[in-house]
Amino acid sequence: MSSSSPDPRPGQGETRTTCCYCGTGCGVIVRSEGGRVVGVRGDPDHPSNRGRLCSKGTTLPLTMSPGAMAARARHPEMRAARGEIRRRASWDEALDFVAARFADTIARHGPDSVAFYVSGQLLTEDYYAFNRLAKGTIGTANIDTNSRLCMSSAVSGYVKTLGVDAPPACYDDIEQADCLFIAGSNAAFAHPVLFRRIEAARQARPEMKIVVVDPRRTETACFADLHLAILPGTDVALFHAMLHVMLWDGLVDEAYIAAHTEGFEAIRDIAREWSPKAAAEVCGVRADDIVTAARWFAGSKATLSLYCQGLNQSTSGTAKNATLIGLHLATGQIGRPGAGPLSLTGQPNAMGGREVGGLATTLAAHRDLANEEHRAEMAFLWNSDRIPSKPGLTAVELFEAVAAGRVKCLWIACTNPAQSLPNLPAVRAALEAAELVVLQEAYADTETAPFADVLLPAASWAEKEGTVTNSERRISRVRAAVPPPGEARPDWSIACDFERRLLHRLTPPHSPPLVPHVLFAALARREERVGGSGGESPQHLWNEHRESTRGRDLDITGLSYEMLERDGPQQWPFPTGATAGAVRLYADGRFHTPSGRARFFAENYKPVAEPVDARYPLRLITGRLRDQWHGMSRTGRIATLFGHVPEPRLAMNASDLARRGLADGELVRVESRRGGLYVIAQADESVRSGQAYLPMHWGKRFLGGRSSAGVNTLTVPATDPISRQPELKHAAVRVGPANLSWRLVAFAEADEAAIGAMVAALLAAQDEIAFLSVVPAGRERPGVLVRAANEGAPDAAWMTALDGLLGLAGSDLLRYDDPRRGHARRVLVRDGRLTAGRISGAAEVVADAEWLRDWMLAGEPVADVRRFLLAPQRPPDKRVRSGSDPVVCNCFGMTASRIAEGLARGEKLECGTNCGSCLPEVRAIAERVASNPGKMVA
Ligand code: SF4
Repeated sequence: MSSSSPDPRPGQGETRTTCCYCGTGCGVIVRSEGGRVVGVRGDPDHPSNRGRLCSKGTTLPLTMSPGAMAARARHPEMRAARGEIRRRASWDEALDFVAARFADTIARHGPDSVAFYVSGQLLTEDYYAFNRLAKGTIGTANIDTNSRLCMSSAVSGYVKTLGVDAPPACYDDIEQADCLFIAGSNAAFAHPVLFRRIEAARQARPEMKIVVVDPRRTETACFADLHLAILPGTDVALFHAMLHVMLWDGLVDEAYIAAHTEGFEAIRDIAREWSPKAAAEVCGVRADDIVTAARWFAGSKATLSLYCQGLNQSTSGTAKNATLIGLHLATGQIGRPGAGPLSLTGQPNAMGGREVGGLATTLAAHRDLANEEHRAEMAFLWNSDRIPSKPGLTAVELFEAVAAGRVKCLWIACTNPAQSLPNLPAVRAALEAAELVVLQEAYADTETAPFADVLLPAASWAEKEGTVTNSERRISRVRAAVPPPGEARPDWSIACDFERRLLHRLTPPHSPPLVPHVLFAALARREERVGGSGGESPQHLWNEHRESTRGRDLDITGLSYEMLERDGPQQWPFPTGATAGAVRLYADGRFHTPSGRARFFAENYKPVAEPVDARYPLRLITGRLRDQWHGMSRTGRIATLFGHVPEPRLAMNASDLARRGLADGELVRVESRRGGLYVIAQADESVRSGQAYLPMHWGKRFLGGRSSAGVNTLTVPATDPISRQPELKHAAVRVGPANLSWRLVAFAEADEAAIGAMVAALLAAQDEIAFLSVVPAGRERPGVLVRAANEGAPDAAWMTALDGLLGLAGSDLLRYDDPRRGHARRVLVRDGRLTAGRISGAAEVVADAEWLRDWMLAGEPVADVRRFLLAPQRPPDKRVRSGSDPVVCNCFGMTASRIAEGLARGEKLECGTNCGSCLPEVRAIAERVASNPGKMVA
């Protein structure tokens, strides 16, 4: 494999790199012209995807379009005091200012008065530079990452059982497994390319059994032979009951347990108490199904577990991971082809961050902060005398410490905590309280950006060099295809530049040995030890990291950038002298524990942190959408990516809506103990009664208004006692009517490049109104969709400003006003099509006119419906397109109803033949068509 480009000019030709979204780690080939990304295709030589990409990967070039790039941070900005507007600054000015403030704070309050909050989106080299800066140069372990919200329970699950944070299995095991046990993962949406492999494996071997454990009937669950729709948070009870069945049926592997494990007796004693009947009551599933799952798991020749946030984001996250791994140990389903536990990483480089020790609780290369020998090894490599011996503050604790004033300077890199952390009201208050917030970001308009005193523009995907590691321990090169915009710089380079400036300023007693001349000697010695070639660069940093792994379980001393260039992605460990990385681990039954034996983790089931009660009777669960990524700072500005799910929706069982007197499509109020928000409710039979489901992505831009900061306004900050991962998957909530008498729906086509500014201007006034949501919309012609609601009509100035932003002006503007009913309508028709509109007034009046929005988004001509544009009644039903007709196939723009119609007519449809991300939904539509042959059933 070679990264060579047919055209050597920068920003021109083809570049091999890696997708920047999920932990599948797909290889992509980027095509660039004139310094712009103009296309991507899957890399056929990359072992993780063999040329496949999902709907997110396929649409990566859209996120680099001129319109999307308009929101990029291009120059450093800073302000002297809160309340001031940031002004443009030079890199020297900004970094010197921050270095002086950090040095002064460290001198006055100690190294733990500063902190870094970084990201699983960073490359390994970036991560390494930040970790060295915090733990080696400053001497604080206060560096945590958004991987804490994502993978830390997987880390502690592995460490508690297998001894180190090393996933034993690999993607090839999917094809070799006889039973797939998928728990807490909607892989069909979250890891779609892996799910394509699961579909293909099932097609090749129909006898393969698939069990899915998930409270919701997800697209992944629909594909399973057995779906265990457990009540949220009850996984540990389920796993104990499965072990109970295995013991009862004689399905445990006594020989493996005796030869390779320790501590089985304690977990056996717990499992004995968990009969399938007892677990069925707690988990809310049938006892027979638990028995079947246990027999398939233990009785199959090879069982592979795939699991993700459903296990991790929990106050029992460590226990869930470790108990599931325990099932593999008890049955000897580990270390063989097709067998083993494989946690799926959410972010593209969560694994790389774990390797460099980029969590507050770990040291580099799977070392332990509390271990003196480990600290000495890193002190030697980093030439540091201040490696901390105690864990730093983990994500939730860190923001609590900022709020309390214990942490005074906070540096945030490549993440958006004002959107993604639980209990957002408290997080936003902490950001307000901080003495200094530095934000290193690619985008200037994230929810966190308004809190930044200093904004440092960072290079992003396709603009920087380095490596990432995916879920199966595979290291891939990431390459720059185009230059970053403006003065944006790679993250590692910002961290290293700051490190140099800080060292010049650190004063005794906090830095006695590291005065500047020693620093340069230190750098020279460091290079001697790691074979560096002088100066910092991604390769130099990676070589340092490589040296830190020598002799460790993840030893990569046999690898080099040159090998990755020449031979393509490689799995770790890959020690000196090896000719290939380890495909799977623990084949010899030896584990990285003092005894060499794997350990069972004997902990009983504990309920969720916030059980439902009479005041908050619904269990709110969260999850992912197919076409959006995390906090949406990248995907949330592309109108096309809203075709599948156009707006935030709270999914609830129809019976729960009816019980509350709520209708499908009605704006409702959701409240938890921490705050509330308004959102449109949607009847959804995939959600069990007593639960509600809201995707994790929607931040303040989409679920905003006076008191809402997005979905994490509702979530719980309680964390797992070992992994410190918060319980983002479950909160107790109540849902009721919105009780807002005034509603508004407005829309406007807009030039893609103008949408960002339009959205920003619309959102600037959101605290003046109870509910405001601004969403990019429209497939053929991009635009924005605005929804608002309030206790009464806002003042005329607000409406005038809105009309101005949407371009609702001019002599051809059609108007209707009914002051008595408070109903107003503005409609703009250009070239025979609706191009903008606004309907406001009472809820029922606005609901009746929603067809106008659908008409515009579909780009339908208005000739046939002109007389209804200002009329109170709708056009006849047959003319109205359904607003809930999602674009199921993004590649060919096919909606659910179009697919259903085509299938009913026996047409050969293109949908599913490109990226394949729509296949689970196309299958579901086909099943409905088959069971209702006479009816259109989209
Ligand atoms: Fe990117 Fe999709 Fe591959 Fe994940 S599955 S790495 S999002 S292309």
